[in-house]
Formats: sequence, C-alpha cells, structure tokens
Amino acid sequence: MILLLAVATLAATGKVCAQTRATGGETPSPVAVLDTGKTQSMEQTQKHRFWDKKNDLLFAGVGAARTFDYFSTLNLRRRGDNEILLTNEVVDNHVAFAAIEAAGTGVSIGASYLFHRYGHHKLERWTSMVHFGLATTGAVRNYCLKTAHPKTTP
Ligand SMILES: [Zn+2]
Repeated sequence: MILLLAVATLAATGKVCAQTRATGGETPSPVAVLDTGKTQSMEQTQKHRFWDKKNDLLFAGVGAARTFDYFSTLNLRRRGDNEILLTNEVVDNHVAFAAIEAAGTGVSIGASYLFHRYGHHKLERWTSMVHFGLATTGAVRNYCLKTAHPKTTP
C-alpha cells in the first residue's frame, strides 16, 4: 500500500515537473513580447511603481504618525482628558483603538493606490503627506493639552 502511494506520488510529481518544464520551455518568447508591451503601456499610464522608495517612506511616515497619535491619545486619557474624535470607551479599549489606527493607515494606503491606479500621482503622494501632517498635529496637540484636574473637595 505504501509502495503504491509512493509510486503514485512520484508519478504525480513527475507530471507536475513535466508540465512545469513544458510551459517553462514554451513561454519565454511570448512572455518577453508581452512584457515589452506591458512596460510600454505602463510608462504611458503610470510614471512609477506603486511601492517605490517615495511611497515606502510616505507610508512608513503615516504608520509612524498613527502610532504617535495612538500613544498620545492614551497619554491624554491617562491624564483624565476626553477623546474628541472617537468615544472614550473606544480609546480605552486599547486593542480596538490600535486596530482603528492600523485601519486608518490601511485606508490611506488604499486611497493612495486608487489615485496611483488612475494616474493621479500627485494626489497619491498628497494623501500620505496630508494624513501624516494631520495625525502628527493631532498627536502633538494631545500632548500639549492641559491635564484635567477634577475638582475634589477635601
Ligand atoms: Zn503613482
């Protein structure tokens, strides 16, 4: 039984290898032709790859700004201040709040991708730059807010 399985497996892998070799041997010339056609049309519609160095930096910046915002908001809550954009309950649930911050970064990258896809490369970059600016400003503001001192009567 085991021998039969081994033979069947060998036969199957042999077939897969043969198929791979067959397609591998046949495709080089058509693929090369297709590739040149693709790069030509890509040069016309897209000026750069989506994951180029500039976008890598911008997305990393957005992620960092969102992280900065996350910690500044937790700091604000620890000092007794209230969250204004979300509710205190959401922010106090650290896992949910971290997920929201991560989703914000994801949505931003998605919007950039859509702009890139449809040839609006300036808007694509600006999405990240504006997001980075707003998130960083918000975080700095959070740290600058005065600590709430609830009136306690002794
Ligand atoms: Zn682009």
